[in-house]
Amino acid sequence: MKKLSVGIINLLLIISILSLYILEPMAVKAASSATTLAELRQELKQLQAQKQSNEKKKEMTQSQINQKNKDIANAQGEIKNSEAKIEEATNNIKTSEQKISEYEAKTEEVMAFYQLMMGENSYLEFVTDSSSMTELIMRIDAVEQLIKYNQDQLVTLEDLIKDNEQKQVELKKYQNELNQNIDNYEKKISELETEKLALSDISVGINEEIKLQQAQIKNFEQMGCGENENLDVCVARIGSNGWLKPVPKGRINSLFGYRNVAGQSSNHSGIDIGINEGTEVLSSTVGTVITTFRTNCGGNQVYVQSYVDGKPYVVLYAHLKSISVSAGQQINQQTRIGYSGGYSTSTLHGGYDRCTTGAHLHVSVSQTVYKSYSNFVAHLINPPGYPKTKGAYFYSRTQWFD
Ligand SMILES: [Zn+2]
Repeated sequence: MKKLSVGIINLLLIISILSLYILEPMAVKAASSATTLAELRQELKQLQAQKQSNEKKKEMTQSQINQKNKDIANAQGEIKNSEAKIEEATNNIKTSEQKISEYEAKTEEVMAFYQLMMGENSYLEFVTDSSSMTELIMRIDAVEQLIKYNQDQLVTLEDLIKDNEQKQVELKKYQNELNQNIDNYEKKISELETEKLALSDISVGINEEIKLQQAQIKNFEQMGCGENENLDVCVARIGSNGWLKPVPKGRINSLFGYRNVAGQSSNHSGIDIGINEGTEVLSSTVGTVITTFRTNCGGNQVYVQSYVDGKPYVVLYAHLKSISVSAGQQINQQTRIGYSGGYSTSTLHGGYDRCTTGAHLHVSVSQTVYKSYSNFVAHLINPPGYPKTKGAYFYSRTQWFD
């Protein structure tokens, strides 16, 4: 469940970042809840603090993993130790058993000798010789002592065997405990590894979020938004400075991209703005006129090179009835490009332009520095800030549509 939500957060972040680069800069909206640059900076600080605490958690988890690995190594060392001890105990048991059988053999020998001593014949033989009597007693005494000594040794050895057997049992029990501990440590390590992985996922998420936040701050800084200015207001304000509609009011007759005309699919290089023929067309941007010309498909056309928010754009105005600017001219957003056409210029109504049927202004935007027509065509984008729905209207030069 944790993993899933982290995945979703990452996906959202990736989408936000992609949209940051794909969408035109003016369309960038804060993914956060911040409404001002100052709040964005505050959020960035929080993200960085989160990142730090997350890194600390990761470090702690790693040190716990290291500790558990140490514990395992210790337990394995202990197991080896106890194995050596068990072997020692086993050897001791064997040695003791050997000694016991040796002592048993000796005791039997001495007992046989003793019985022989106590036998009648020997006894009589010794009794007849008084000097030998003392010797006899001494010998019997010595034999008795020897027997007692051997029996004592046997008892001691049997005790030793019992001790060693007990030791063996205890060591095996200890080994089992150690193995149990290793199992537990391994389980704990696997848990910690999972935790660490989750923390790494969070790290990736936070890092992406920080990157996005920093990009946004930089973007709004470059736009010149005030620290406490509402970002929407700023985007509208600066956006208006960057891009203005060429006419104060219009209807989107045709959208940018693929469209069907008379059952045939074709790629529309810009948008068509429905306006009355003869409407004054002003420059959308501050820039330089690159070239102006007339063709039988597009009519009078004006190409303008501009830079908005540090990015190069070429803006094309087509189907004009007349052109008011010339190549090389520096223009601003109040400069008249020309007057709109599309109706009288159409071949349908006695004109020369076979690519128009009614009154409209065609606007294309290419994100490039103008090098050639094919280069212009290769970098066409959806003209920024217009309604994205066919038939929709805009009602001012500053109205902005995301
Ligand atoms: Zn068009």
